[in-house]
Amino acid sequence: MSIEKDKVVSMKYVLKDDQGNIIDQSQDGQFAYLHGANNIIPGLEAALEGKNTGDEISVAIEPAKAYGEHNPEAVQRVPRAQFPADIDIQPGMQFQTQAPNGQIAVVTVSGVEGDDVLLDTNHPLAGKTLNFEVTITDVRDATDEEKEHGHVHGAGGHHH
Ligand code: ZN
Repeated sequence: MSIEKDKVVSMKYVLKDDQGNIIDQSQDGQFAYLHGANNIIPGLEAALEGKNTGDEISVAIEPAKAYGEHNPEAVQRVPRAQFPADIDIQPGMQFQTQAPNGQIAVVTVSGVEGDDVLLDTNHPLAGKTLNFEVTITDVRDATDEEKEHGHVHGAGGHHH
C-alpha cells in the first residue's frame, strides 16, 4: 500500500543535524502519523508521499520546510532577577515556559549580558536543516475516527 492522504504510516526514523549528531529518533523503533493531516513537518510529509512499506529514504529538509528560519527578533532580553538565584544560567540551557493560551514552549538561553539573560524563543530546531533516515514499516487505511480527530490511535499514536 502506498502513502497518500488518510493513510496511517508507521516508521522508524533517525534525525541528524548537519554535523551528524542525532537530534531525535523513534522510540521503541516505531512512530506513526496520519498522512495529509499536518502531523509532521511539511518537508518530510512531501518526501514520503507515494512511498511504500519497506521503503528506506534519506532526505535533507531545509528550515523553510521544517521548523522555519531562525528569527533574530524572537530573542528576548529578560532580567536575571526573574530566574531563581540558585540556578547558574548558562548559554544553551533550556526552560519550559507557558504562554497565556496555555501552550508549553521551550526557550533556550542564547547568552548572558550583565544583568540580563538573552532568551531565544525560536523553536529549538528553527534554522536547522534536518536530515532524516526513515524506514517505512507499515501503511494502512485510517479509521473514520482517526480521520475525524486528525491523528493516529493505538500503537505509535494517541491513547484516549
Ligand atoms: Zn483521537
